[in-house]
Amino acid sequence: MVNRERMAEEFIELVKIDSLSLNEKQMAQVLKSKLEAMGYEAFEDDAGTKAGGNCGNIICTVKGNMDVPAVLLMAHMDTVVPGTGKKPVVDGEYIRTDRTTVLGGDDLAGVECILETLRVLKEDKIDHGDIQIVFTMGEEVGLLGSKNLDYGRIYAKFAFIMDNGGPIGTVAVKAPSQNKIDAAVNGKSAHAGIEPEKGISAIQIAAYAISMMKLGRIDAETTANIGIISGGHATNIVCGRVELKAEARSLDEKKLEAQTQHMKQCLEQAAEKFGGSVEFKSELMYPAFKIGENDEIIGILKKASEASGIELRLEATGGGSDTNIVNGNGIQAVDVSIGMDKVHSVNEQIKIEDMAKAAEFLIAIIGKGMLQIKEK
Ligand SMILES: [Zn+2]
Repeated sequence: MVNRERMAEEFIELVKIDSLSLNEKQMAQVLKSKLEAMGYEAFEDDAGTKAGGNCGNIICTVKGNMDVPAVLLMAHMDTVVPGTGKKPVVDGEYIRTDRTTVLGGDDLAGVECILETLRVLKEDKIDHGDIQIVFTMGEEVGLLGSKNLDYGRIYAKFAFIMDNGGPIGTVAVKAPSQNKIDAAVNGKSAHAGIEPEKGISAIQIAAYAISMMKLGRIDAETTANIGIISGGHATNIVCGRVELKAEARSLDEKKLEAQTQHMKQCLEQAAEKFGGSVEFKSELMYPAFKIGENDEIIGILKKASEASGIELRLEATGGGSDTNIVNGNGIQAVDVSIGMDKVHSVNEQIKIEDMAKAAEFLIAIIGKGMLQIKEK
């Protein structure tokens, strides 16, 4: 049985540890020793060295007694700013902070959910297959832990990433890919009062280009945005250069490419019209994933929902997470809600009951959910 008091107590213990992105070392050591105290061997990979953090991902494999494919459970160790000296407060059925920092329930509630699940599986002698656990570093600063994970050690077929919000039972089964766009428009500087005809305004080129661009919601699967535009020095100088930072996202890689090309073309056409030039760089931040209705992992979730009595809510998300990267590495992965609420703000909170229910759902996934794979 899931122990709510034990969960709340351990979650508070974790929240009190500073664990900003790329500075997760202390958290990693605590988690490693907790896994070892349960009798499991925990290993730290070299993601930290590769990604510029002070520790790697924590990887642990728990052998099972059931002949089913292995599952991967994942949560990230890092929390966002303001996140040092976090002071958790129990407020009725919620745990929150003193409102000066985030709580870090994103994603320490996911970490706690996995720890409690491992304990209950053992205590209640629940049959299960092999379980691989990965606590990632650097998720909030570019999914660095999952991108640099030592996949050679991972043989799981299905992954449950415990890093989603919404009512317990909410599972993200679709998420877009994202292109990060860095562009610059070059015009020509000149004195704006004496000889403006010798200048080419980069601001005018960029404005013309943007006025032709489809932005915002493009279709049900695709979005695009120009987030930052900067340039210019003084009113008496025709602006010679403007820099733009933008993004495009889509559940469909072809649509993502089409939107990115469209944005590039608008800039190029405008530059041609006014006699300027364009530098355009686009980088894929993470791939999209779309789990199909008939994919095996949906069957596992449905069975777990039935066994736990927790209603399953399949959703598409607009954000990117470790789930994108794990899917991109050939492991079917979904992002499961742990009840985190108002994340990335000082008003972040979590209901103790939600955390406990998330653990119950995860136990049902690993037990009854995976059992139906065997029975099939
Ligand atoms: Zn998160």
